[in-house]
Amino acid sequence: MSEARTSSRLGGLRDYKLLAEQDQTVLWHPYTQMAEYGEREPIIIERGEGPYLYDVRRRRFLDAFGSMWCNVWGHNQPDIVNAIQDQAARLCHASLFTVSHVPAVDLAVALTTAIKEDFKYAAEPPSLNHVFFSDNGSTAVEVAMKMALQYQNQVGRISRTQFLTFHYGYHGDTFGAMSASSIDAFRRKFAPSLFDCVNADYPMQIEEGERPDGIRSAEYAFEAILAGRADRLAAIVIEPVMQAAAGMRPLADDYLGKIKKYCREYDILLITDEVFTGFCRTGPLVASSAELVEPDILCLGKGITGGTLPMGVTVASEKVYEAFKGEWSEMKQFLHGHTYSGNPIACAAALRNLELVAEHKLKENVRARAREFHYILKRRIGSHPRVGEIRQRGLAIGIPIKDEKGKEAGGYEQRSDAARICRRAIDNSRVLLRPLGNVITICPPLNIERQQVDEIVDALEDGLKALDDA
Ligand SMILES: *Cc1c(COP(=O)(O)O)cnc(C)c1O
Repeated sequence: MSEARTSSRLGGLRDYKLLAEQDQTVLWHPYTQMAEYGEREPIIIERGEGPYLYDVRRRRFLDAFGSMWCNVWGHNQPDIVNAIQDQAARLCHASLFTVSHVPAVDLAVALTTAIKEDFKYAAEPPSLNHVFFSDNGSTAVEVAMKMALQYQNQVGRISRTQFLTFHYGYHGDTFGAMSASSIDAFRRKFAPSLFDCVNADYPMQIEEGERPDGIRSAEYAFEAILAGRADRLAAIVIEPVMQAAAGMRPLADDYLGKIKKYCREYDILLITDEVFTGFCRTGPLVASSAELVEPDILCLGKGITGGTLPMGVTVASEKVYEAFKGEWSEMKQFLHGHTYSGNPIACAAALRNLELVAEHKLKENVRARAREFHYILKRRIGSHPRVGEIRQRGLAIGIPIKDEKGKEAGGYEQRSDAARICRRAIDNSRVLLRPLGNVITICPPLNIERQQVDEIVDALEDGLKALDDA
């Protein structure tokens, strides 16, 4: 097996020109303008090792955006690869619709145990006990929203059919998740087919200095929204700790707790979308546990398999779960499922990933590297006239690029300066970075070492020179 893999890996260069041509003509890339994709030579990856990706031309790239923010251990972490191979040899798939299987049971137990550990200092014993599997982050949210609607219906609150969500929120690309999202550029063309959600402000924490005045007014506005329509709200959907796709916007400290308080008072379910912030990206496994705020429904994705295989997880509290019990004829069973829900290979990868978090003291590494990033970024690019207030939680970093007048501006529509900086970082330094509008995002594998922190900051420092060339 390993010999065969090595030989196919190292034997003979693939014909780069042919691959590149086929890539441009046959493959349709997500969120990519294919008309201009062909203007640059594509980077075609052949293999990965640690934090690096190697392309078919044998060039090495540092994966500083963590393969769309999901990578935990770098590429091809040997323990996870072994778990995947072992599981594949035993059982590739069996459906939870009719049977159960060992890796799904083991993972559900390990995951709920780990969640409890994160909430062990909470005032009430944690009750996120029931794990529902799907295939990706969007479906994890989709499942949570359907659970909330069906829950409210089955406890007799049939008027509760709406969701409260937040300005600039992002919850995925399927229709329910899109409806809950409010980044205009991503949803405008579908807007007529989406359902309406009530939007509240997401007050941002400013890293240094005073707490922004906005928090009190956001809270008043929030109270006003609830007072008017609490009896129509099924759930509040929020990205705890920070909004990722909005450009890494950290939530004001203690705000999640306030939202939870209102949820209790008005009997609204709290759904935390931790697809991005969870799984140690911002520190703890469960992001909302940073402030000991337990949601009624928790959504996980991205890093849950260490960044190896697709998986979405929706964890429900006891209260929610209980409302789905009844006689068959009552049709109270949760009316949702996917063919590959809880795929055994993905479960085995996630299980091993979870074990490695403790074995390798991952949370400590995130803390140490996060601190280094904070100081090094501040020292080396913080005072650059085009760099705005750097936003960071753990190893999720957003660097807003200001325009020449010093304004933090720019939506997704413009070809941004941030995009030019990322381009230069890729071309000159072979560090893969990705812009979001005019914000550069850094989301490296969570086990990176100091050396890669330096490599990324070097690339940014050089990348900023792209603004001088213009
Ligand atoms: C990425 C993301 C999603 C969607 O996950 P996919 O796996 O891309 O479908 C949902 N919510 C948040 C907060 C995300 O960052």
